[in-house]
Amino acid sequence: MKKRILTGDTPTGKLHLGHFVGTLQNRVKLQDEYETYIILADLHALTTLSKDPYKISQYTLEVAIDNLAVGLNPDKSHIFVESLVPEIYELAAIFSMYVTYGRVMRNPTIKDEITMKELGNTYSLGFINYPIYQAADILCVKANLVPVGKDQVAHLEQTREIARDINRVTNSEIFPIPEVLVGQHGKLPGLDGKAKMSKSLGNAIFLSDSSEEVKKKVMRMYTDPTRIRATDPGHIEGNAVFTYHDVFNPNKDEVADMKQAYEHGKISDVAVKEKLYQVLETFLSPIRERRIKLEKDKGKIREIIIEGSKKAREESQKTLLEVKEKIGLSIV
Ligand code: ATP
Ligand code: MG
Repeated sequence: MKKRILTGDTPTGKLHLGHFVGTLQNRVKLQDEYETYIILADLHALTTLSKDPYKISQYTLEVAIDNLAVGLNPDKSHIFVESLVPEIYELAAIFSMYVTYGRVMRNPTIKDEITMKELGNTYSLGFINYPIYQAADILCVKANLVPVGKDQVAHLEQTREIARDINRVTNSEIFPIPEVLVGQHGKLPGLDGKAKMSKSLGNAIFLSDSSEEVKKKVMRMYTDPTRIRATDPGHIEGNAVFTYHDVFNPNKDEVADMKQAYEHGKISDVAVKEKLYQVLETFLSPIRERRIKLEKDKGKIREIIIEGSKKAREESQKTLLEVKEKIGLSIV
């Protein structure tokens, strides 16, 4: 039997370059080797979109399209919607009995999100439950591998702990202990130079952005704030334009030359950005074209999701039954 992958996205917006290098690339690469499940975690989206929940269903379709446009093959991979697999919530309720409040609040990603999204103490119970629901997302199909960005590593540790706890109390090996796989760049910075490109922080280049949008965004990018004139020596470290060159420009010699010229005040920010724009265009235009084709048949996209959700549900029902029987929530 093939080993399984579970990974996915929160449909709080369309997918961006950060998603690609953090996880999408690995999904596509590994879909032949692993039986792959991609979750569109719509319930999780409510943590961000609680005031505009009607947007979630639209984003769910968009995120499915993004996954297909980068090369996820629906004949091999199961793309499913979390809320169509209610067994996940039952599993999460069981898991929540094994996690203390203190443990959740020590989770560095929870702490970071509270700061980054300026949540103060306005976050919901659902928000701090996020890692528990996520454990259920992953374990409902008994995944062995979870390709994600760096911000998810702490959550995955929580999933692994839950899997071990349930295995221990049931004296069984119901769950594999899932491994984490971080992508080529685990945390792509935002256009504003902030640590993480994020769909909810307004600092992203989306896979669906038009050529004009990409150009506008690149030309306005944050570079080196200490550099006033093109003849001033520039800094590479912390300069998102060069981080993107490192990740997306296949011509490594060109990147090395540009860096040297930049550090010696021999190339302008505009020139380095122009090059980046071209590099991103080469990367994005085939994705954009596939996206446009896919968007024309939303009925087909819905079919793919419904099929994927049926499959995920079948597997989750089996898992849940097994857990309930072993844990004593069954009188038969
Ligand atoms: P939100 O701000 O709503 O949480 P997000 O941009 O973080 O949105 P998610 O749907 O939460 O997106 O993340 C989906 C996957 O993409 C996760 O595996 C996450 O680690 C990864 N990811 C998200 N942003 C980045 C990034 N900037 N660099 C690398 N990976 C990323
Ligand atoms: Mg996120």
